[in-house]
Amino acid sequence: MSKNAFVFMGGTFDPIHNGHLRTALEMQQWLGVDRLHLIPSKTPVHKDAPGCTSAQRLEMVRLAVEGESALQVDEREINSVQPSYTLLTLQGLRAELGDAVPICMIMGMDAYQTLPSWHEWQRFLTLGHLIVVQRPGYQLADDSVMGELTRQHRADSPQELLSQPSGKVLLHELTPLGISATQVRETIGSGDSPRYLIPDPVWQFIQENQLYGLTN
Ligand code: ATP
Ligand code: MG
Repeated sequence: MSKNAFVFMGGTFDPIHNGHLRTALEMQQWLGVDRLHLIPSKTPVHKDAPGCTSAQRLEMVRLAVEGESALQVDEREINSVQPSYTLLTLQGLRAELGDAVPICMIMGMDAYQTLPSWHEWQRFLTLGHLIVVQRPGYQLADDSVMGELTRQHRADSPQELLSQPSGKVLLHELTPLGISATQVRETIGSGDSPRYLIPDPVWQFIQENQLYGLTN
């Protein structure tokens, strides 16, 4: 199995929460790779404008993984002058890493189901693998476009995935955590504490910077 695979999880991380973090850590351990890279997007092309700036979202990801060397922040999308298209990120990584290194993109089942609306998504598997994490409340329908794609490209083990550079889809179930950034923002917006849904340093940062409509 290739130890030098590049494994990443993209997202808006608005804000990063324990569902992201636990997913990332369990995936890194399950795949047996040294590191997993978190890539915050700059301009969310699939979403409404975020509740805080890209720089603040990036800073919260940094705070969240401080002291955990298995999780790394990758600033490529935030620093890019181009829009945050996954295709561009995959192409950039492939150019950087060469043809042989497996590239694995992790996403939740909710994101996977929306893939057909992503810019040139059909090219993703020519550049890397997709690892899809079950997320409470989201089920793949067999007769959907993504159900069909999954059948065609499915891998059955991390070994199978990491033995080639691209082209496979792996579904994996880990500790289900039904936390979403939407829930975190709504909790804060209604004046309640989001403690234990997000890391303490992230909550502190939100309070200090009065994000998500927080006043005092
Ligand atoms: P929002 O509620 O604003 O949509 P979110 O919680 O879905 O935010 P994103 O930044 O959109 O967070 O998600 C980034 C990636 O992390 C996506 O692939 C998403 O499916 C995955 N993800 C988010 N939350 C979880 C979770 N609790 N368990 C597993 N995967 C998750
Ligand atoms: Mg989401």
